[in-house]
Amino acid sequence: MGVPVIACDCSVCASSSPKNKRLRVAALITVGQKQFLIDAGPDFRTQALNYNITHLEGLLITHPHFDHVAGLDDLRVFHCFHQKSVPCLLSQESLDALKKSHAYLFESFEKERFQFQVLEKEQGDVMFGGVKWHYMSFLQKKDKVTGFRLGNMAYVLDIRSFSDEIFHMLKGVDTLILSALRYETSPSHFSIEEAISFAKKVGAKETWLSHLAHEIDYEEGMRLLPPEVKLAYDGLEVKFDAN
Ligand SMILES: [Zn+2]
Ligand SMILES: [Zn+2]
Repeated sequence: MGVPVIACDCSVCASSSPKNKRLRVAALITVGQKQFLIDAGPDFRTQALNYNITHLEGLLITHPHFDHVAGLDDLRVFHCFHQKSVPCLLSQESLDALKKSHAYLFESFEKERFQFQVLEKEQGDVMFGGVKWHYMSFLQKKDKVTGFRLGNMAYVLDIRSFSDEIFHMLKGVDTLILSALRYETSPSHFSIEEAISFAKKVGAKETWLSHLAHEIDYEEGMRLLPPEVKLAYDGLEVKFDAN
């Protein structure tokens, strides 16, 4: 929902702390001169303006839920300005869902806006935008979600159930971006506690929790976490080794 939540007057939504203002989740990955975006939710336009995103080597989609793809239409600027389709990496399931939710993107001249590249397996390696990515699959309720790994950084959001193989895929990750929604458990997201135990199993040097709802106050939440697990916030920058 983003924070503040529309029509909510709780203390977090009313807070003036910039760390309690949360646009919908996304990540901009910079590798040399190349910039990749993971997910384009309904706040993409604001994020692109706030963080001066002027070009994209490609878009990676984790899954086709509204909070991750509702900003797709605003990526048209990159096609207009650069006369070049935006390469887009996603699972077959995500592509099938977009064909329904964004049917017009697959018709007539709109077809040129994106160049879709489908991930062929449940997990593996793929070249995308001249960079070698690792990808893995897990579930949010019944829906497949894709996680991405680049070097010693992994982006694992909207995870609810998974096979233990994922820990093999995440071996050696030093920077883990992981989702947690609130303190209580939910059918579609890890609680803070569940995210901490997943993070411990991965053993990354630092784990950043993202996708946080308005139940979590930044300062209070940070005090409850072990030192290697932290709450992410809008505008957070982390360095990692892409090789
Ligand atoms: Zn609230
Ligand atoms: Zn989500």
